[in-house]
Amino acid sequence: MTKLQIVQSQIAPYSAQLVAVSKLQENEKIMLLYDQGQRVFSENRPQELARKYNELPKDIEWHLIGHLQQNKVRMIVPIVHLIHSVDSFELAKKINAEAKLNFKKVNILLQIKLSKEESKHGFNFTELINSLQRDFWSELNNIEICGVMGIGSLTSEPSITRQEFKQLKNYFEELKSNYFKINEFKEISMGMSADFQIALEEGATMVRIGSLIF
Ligand SMILES: *Cc1c(COP(=O)(O)O)cnc(C)c1O
Repeated sequence: MTKLQIVQSQIAPYSAQLVAVSKLQENEKIMLLYDQGQRVFSENRPQELARKYNELPKDIEWHLIGHLQQNKVRMIVPIVHLIHSVDSFELAKKINAEAKLNFKKVNILLQIKLSKEESKHGFNFTELINSLQRDFWSELNNIEICGVMGIGSLTSEPSITRQEFKQLKNYFEELKSNYFKINEFKEISMGMSADFQIALEEGATMVRIGSLIF
């Protein structure tokens, strides 16, 4: 079995989606996975995503998983399928405006901070809830809010990671029942090479895996 097939077989019982993380990988490496049937790839840098979008087959579905600066939104909106890393209301507003100019609706996830480390990007959950109560969001008709995304702490202690993923699942349920009672709000993007097994056990619907399959 290839590395991809091994990971696919570990994910299969959970019916989650494998988002291949192709950042820093050469086109040839990406094509090796493409030739095995993988069609969902993700990048953390807008420029690299745009370059690979141009160079690689057009039936690839590209996701952005890294922090997005507002001045890069224009580059990404026409070509991206899902932005996992929306971490502020201002960014969501900017994406919405650009999507409107492109006559499209852009799928996004709300990235929520899980670890105590303040440097990490993402919404503070309490602040997010407050902004939802003020109903900033309802005018954003050109974005589809499809769920949440989180990054577990860099730790060798599985119980910490599990606790963070449980927390994200709880955040998801709270947002779903109080603010997003729509079918489209269904994704929980969590888990990377080191911790995707725990993420699946805790309810991930998308796992973002790079080093393990490349
Ligand atoms: C790099 C990256 C991944 C994948 O990490 P691996 O350890 O290579 O699987 C997942 N999510 C984000 C946000 C990343 O930046």
